[in-house]
Parts: sequence; C-alpha cells; structure tokens
Amino acid sequence: MSFSTSDRFLIPMTEGSAVDRGWTAATDFKPVAITWHWSGTGTLAECSRLLGGREPLRKGFASAHYGVGRSYREGIDRYVAIDNRSWHAGKNQTVRWDGGLCRDISDKGHRTSIGIETINLGYAQPGLPAEPGWSRADSPHGRWQMRIQPWTEEQIQMMIALGREIVSRWPHIEPRDHHGHHDLCPGYKVDPVGFPFARVLRGIYDDPGIPDVWTPYWTARQRRTALCKLGFDLGDGGLWDAACDRALRSLQASEGLVVNGNWSTFVGWKIHRVVG
Ligand SMILES: [Zn+2]
Repeated sequence: MSFSTSDRFLIPMTEGSAVDRGWTAATDFKPVAITWHWSGTGTLAECSRLLGGREPLRKGFASAHYGVGRSYREGIDRYVAIDNRSWHAGKNQTVRWDGGLCRDISDKGHRTSIGIETINLGYAQPGLPAEPGWSRADSPHGRWQMRIQPWTEEQIQMMIALGREIVSRWPHIEPRDHHGHHDLCPGYKVDPVGFPFARVLRGIYDDPGIPDVWTPYWTARQRRTALCKLGFDLGDGGLWDAACDRALRSLQASEGLVVNGNWSTFVGWKIHRVVG
C-alpha cells in the first residue's frame, strides 16, 4: 500500500474558518465518535477545493477532518487536525452520536465527532446515471430506491489505515462509535447509504467478529424481513409502506431510540442479535 496523507489543504486556525480549537468539556476534551460521509464529488481535488485550505468554496460553512480519495494516487487530504473540531455535521441534526436525542449544541456532530469525507458521487439521479456494479440501497426512510457508487478497494484500504491512526490516538473510540451522517441528520442527509461499514471497521479493529449491522438492511425488503423476524406482521412485499413505518417506529420506541421512522446504524446494532 502506497499513499500519503497531505496537509496542503489544512485549514488555518483563523476567524471565519470552519474549524474550532480543541474538544469541549462536554466530551471530556475528546472526540467520542467518527462520522463517515460521502463527498458527492468525483475527485479528491474537487472535495478539497470545497472544504479545505485557506479559501475553500464553503469557507465558514462546512469542513471535515479528512477527505479520502478513490485511489492511492489521490491519497488522503487532511483539513483539520484531530485535536481540533471540524464543521462536518450539526445542521438539522436531531440524533446524537450514541443514537440518543440531540438536545443542544454540545451534542452536535461538530462538537463530538471526527468527520471523514470519502470521495464518492453518491446516488444515481437525473444527469448522473448508475453504472454497472452500483449498489442497490434504499433511503433511511425507506421510500427511495437508490443506486450507489461503490467505494474502491484502494479507498477501503486507505479508510482502514486512517481509522487505525485515529483510534491509536483516541483508543476509546470503539466500533459502535462509528456512524454515518444520515444517522445524525435523518430526513436531511442520506450519506453514506451503502457504505461498507463492516469491512472498514473489521479492518480498523483487526476483528472479523464485528457484526455486519448494515449490509443486511440496505433495502426496504431486507428491513421488512428483519421486522417480520422480530414479530411484526408485515407480509413479504418489497416496498416500504405505512405498516413498515409504524413497525419501525414501534421498534425504535421499545428500544429507547429516537422515534423518527428512519433506519439507522443504531437500529442495526439493537436488532442484530435477534435477527442475525
Ligand atoms: Zn455528509
């Protein structure tokens, strides 16, 4: 494996930049989670122009700690050191890093978690047709059937290496402390639906026993099957309907999760032992 992490787009700690110094007392001056994103860009250079450096296009609005390219040639760009905070989540955030209710600003992603942008176009839409091999995954609310650009093998290896580096600095961050942007901001963001969480986390923690609580629930059909195994009477239709929505909300309520009808990493962790 041969790639480098570049600091050429590091954001200066100056007023007006989307970066804050240090972590806060609310989290014992440490990040408590890692939030994975997709960039919605085709290249790392494009992502870095948007988020990183001295005069990014989104200066003062958004940043991230890292951008992970799609190839070793692109490598990784660091925008913010992990001892500081990047502005990568918080807008329209209703759920916090542990699946609980986001109560105030101290629970926001930009105050609690490390934000990693992975270079990925996201989902097929008008003007961006799916290519052969794109994954099928449905939106967290279950009503959109999406085709997702897969992450590349080199990118997965870089994400694993980066994750190891972060966890060696902050060893209290465990597999359950990783989630996607949509887990925090359901209804506002869908990234990174279809992300290879199990592979990346098994690599970071060198533990093939980490359960895959994501892939088995990518589609509405899979989620419906899981809910049926949990005792909900939903039939075996493929699409997400009002009965599925009610069942998911009921499950969220009984598991102590925020009741919002959105399938999340937190739901996956709650049910995998039963559903398998
Ligand atoms: Zn995002």
